[in-house]
Amino acid sequence: MHLEKRDYDAVIVGSGPNGLAAAILMQQKGLSVLLIEGKSTIGGGLRSARLTLSGYMHDICSAVHPLAIASPFFQTLPLSAHGLEYIYPEVAAAHPFDNGTAAILKGSVEETAGLLGADENAYVKLIKPVVKDWPAIAPDILGPLHYPKHPLAMARFGLPALTSAAHLVKRFETPEARGLFAGMAAHAIQPLSNLATSAIALVLMANGHLKGWPIPKGGSNQIANALASYFLSIGGKIETNTQITSLQQLPYAHAVLFDVTPRQLLKIAGHRFSSIYKWQLERYRYGMGVFKIDWALDAQIPFKAAGCHKAGTIHIGNTFEEITDGEKQIWQGKHSEKPYVLLAQPSIFDPTRAPEGKHTAWAYCHVPNGSKKDMAAIIENQVERFAPGFKDTILARHKMNTAQMEHYNPNYIGGDINGGVIDLGQLFTRPVLRWSPYKTSAKGIYICSSSTPPGGGVHGMCGYHAARRALKDSFGITD
Ligand SMILES: Cc1cc2nc3c(=O)[nH]c(=O)nc-3n(C[C@H](O)[C@H](O)[C@H](O)COP(=O)(O)OP(=O)(O)OC[C@H]3O[C@@H](n4cnc5c(N)ncnc54)[C@H](O)[C@@H]3O)c2cc1C
Repeated sequence: MHLEKRDYDAVIVGSGPNGLAAAILMQQKGLSVLLIEGKSTIGGGLRSARLTLSGYMHDICSAVHPLAIASPFFQTLPLSAHGLEYIYPEVAAAHPFDNGTAAILKGSVEETAGLLGADENAYVKLIKPVVKDWPAIAPDILGPLHYPKHPLAMARFGLPALTSAAHLVKRFETPEARGLFAGMAAHAIQPLSNLATSAIALVLMANGHLKGWPIPKGGSNQIANALASYFLSIGGKIETNTQITSLQQLPYAHAVLFDVTPRQLLKIAGHRFSSIYKWQLERYRYGMGVFKIDWALDAQIPFKAAGCHKAGTIHIGNTFEEITDGEKQIWQGKHSEKPYVLLAQPSIFDPTRAPEGKHTAWAYCHVPNGSKKDMAAIIENQVERFAPGFKDTILARHKMNTAQMEHYNPNYIGGDINGGVIDLGQLFTRPVLRWSPYKTSAKGIYICSSSTPPGGGVHGMCGYHAARRALKDSFGITD
């Protein structure tokens, strides 16, 4: 393909994991690529900072990375040579109950199943096929809708995955297995009665058995730093402190890929879109928000259940029924007094996060989109419930409501951390129903954020697929 000379072949706006992945793939193909970031540092949902006291390092957004190590694209990159080291907590996730016990996701399928009593066989039957098929189906699951390479394996996954968690949980009878499954499905950030809420639970559980749920040594920003370091090493360029509000700010390029959500894209490039595409983008739906809290702690969290002490991630919410009820209330615009809380305790495994003998913890709960309510006391009550004495360990806290989340990163519209609801209506057709969801109606303009398939999480696969589309359309590169 003959192309006239421009400032860059491609420009990527936004340096989250998807922007970084898109920039890397295009640079790897021999193009000249500029990555532009509005904030003073790169990374989007992959930043860490000393949010509380000196000596305590906190992950501002993402903390735990089963999807990053499962990412077919990230696996091809020499990230360890660029400083990234993962730490694997012995227990991937623990789910404490009021009676002082906890269900845990750990080791092999059989190991976890063996702790689930009467649900041992039901667990093996549900999760084992996903674990076995994962290497074959991962590229299809973590990509746009298309005819799968392994249709039978995909059907084996798709049939249970497309059901609601409320339906699939009927395979379990013990409160332990039901609670564990609910804690996994609640990562979907929507009512557990919604279709396809089982998908995220199956993916997270299977990957817990395959590789575990690692945390990066030093903080999540180490993933962004490694990606950026590799990108620069192959000739890419990065410009920070450049918030893009108009296409006129951009250098002349053949393709521009936006790591932003539809609402922002409409403001920046809406005048270039067809009226039908604009109409479709305007109808894109955002979901529940999050209230985020980070603590500097005097000691490890004193969970009653021993299984929690070795877990990187804790799902707080007790029973399936309690989590279901809380998520439903929040979806309806109310705040839950006993919300599902997702908590990570990285300093137990990574001594670089806190001074010797001290600890950090990271947590968030779901809230209605745009909520300004301070949920700190409610979250701390939930932790205290399963870890009496927790509040006495708090040295300092840092809080972010949904408005502060959005101010921090304009992609978190109303505090939605997934770039839009990932329900059945927006699972494959995010942001709109099109042959390629990454391509806009304007020539040379693409969207590559988590508002495209496969959606939220740190895996870079939205950026990877968007870049492949742009490489094909704008540069005739198909391999
Ligand atoms: C509190 C929280 C906890 C999370 N926990 C996890 C977790 O543990 N594991 C996990 O896998 N995922 C987690 N996530 C989700 C994950 O962080 C996101 O899904 C992921 O970062 C999305 O990547 P992205 O590249 O699409 O966008 P983002 O990471 O949001 O990056 C977008 C970037 O674009 C920049 N930008 C936006 N607009 C412009 C503009 N106009 N001009 C220039 N730059 C712009 C932003 O500043 C930002 O740097 C969490 C998110 C949050 C907020």
